[in-house]
Amino acid sequence: MLEQRPNCEACDRDLPPDSADARICSYECTFCAGCVESLLQNVCPNCGGGFQPRPIRPKVARRPGVSLADQPAGTTRRHLKHDRDEIARFAAAARDIPPAER
Ligand SMILES: [Zn+2]
Ligand SMILES: [Zn+2]
Repeated sequence: MLEQRPNCEACDRDLPPDSADARICSYECTFCAGCVESLLQNVCPNCGGGFQPRPIRPKVARRPGVSLADQPAGTTRRHLKHDRDEIARFAAAARDIPPAER
């Protein structure tokens, strides 16, 4: 189950669970669409994978026990552990390789 993290690791903007701008990698590293396109160039700086839009968990429990109220979004904010120059070099080395071939 996705943790649904609350912020972009790069710019720290809020990414609430219903945000259409949240992007995640397979490890759920979470960034905003703007940072994925510009700074990261679709290369996760933590794992090297690509990104997809984060699915939105339903607010209404249309099946019992399955909703945002039952499994609330995470509240632990995360921040990048790498500096921006290093991230740019990391992205440049992988951005031209499709995620399925990385
Ligand atoms: Zn961002
Ligand atoms: Zn990642």
